[in-house]
Amino acid sequence: MRLGPAAVSTGVVFERLDLPGQPEVRARPENLTESCQCTALAEGGVRVSTVEHLLAALAGLGADNVRVVLDAEELPMLDGSARPWVELVERIGLRVQPEPRVYLRLTRLVRAQAGDRWLEARPARELSLDCAVEYDHPLIHRQRCVFVNQPEAFRRSLAPARTFGFLRDVERLNAAGLALGGSLDNALVLDDFSVLNPGGLRFPDEFVRHKTLDLLGDLALLGAPLLGRVNASRAGHRLHHALVERLAGEDGCLERVSFARPGEAAAVLEGLAIPNLQSA
Ligand SMILES: [Zn+2]
Repeated sequence: MRLGPAAVSTGVVFERLDLPGQPEVRARPENLTESCQCTALAEGGVRVSTVEHLLAALAGLGADNVRVVLDAEELPMLDGSARPWVELVERIGLRVQPEPRVYLRLTRLVRAQAGDRWLEARPARELSLDCAVEYDHPLIHRQRCVFVNQPEAFRRSLAPARTFGFLRDVERLNAAGLALGGSLDNALVLDDFSVLNPGGLRFPDEFVRHKTLDLLGDLALLGAPLLGRVNASRAGHRLHHALVERLAGEDGCLERVSFARPGEAAAVLEGLAIPNLQSA
């Protein structure tokens, strides 16, 4: 796959090079589709899946308009974090575009809930995320991550955090013939007491940092940066999608605003990159 520039107001668009006519799938709330523990999009019957970590990297670095050309349905998992995407975008560079960036300003509280798991978005001057997770595991227990979206903070605090899974689930999935590509190279894997990855954790709270990264990527489906504070308690992709659909679908809860001050114009990737990124 490769990343390239797109015109102002395009947002992120995926192009399937492997299908006749090279159909496009836009990263938009109405294209959210059924998926298994990831974020998948479909438009006109064409699917693109596992988009959330790339979308998080683009949102974290402030890249608004990007064309993603790929020759498969699924994006590469890489190391399970957004760090390789950040390195790729930084190698290409960003270009400031001549139009002011458009933001989505929340006008009131919007909530999504499933049992004791919930997400709440409320008006604020900038995008901030406050996520909490709770797992009955000695390395996790309760963790909380508060993140204000700024490129440097994203690069340092969220991008390196990897997706994680439990060995018992991996064994169950393998028995069912699924997740065969999953390995210690593209996820943190935990047994009942410890991390199996030889290098250990990148942060003691890598788990909640990754959940925060996932939320940032899923919110990027709104098509423009959100101005609001989002609190999440034990949420996951399914609940993130419910919130995104509610924000996009409920009349009057989002207002499009832009600021004419320099430095707030939309940015675009400058060139194409075709590195030998291999899906693990
Ligand atoms: Zn993830």
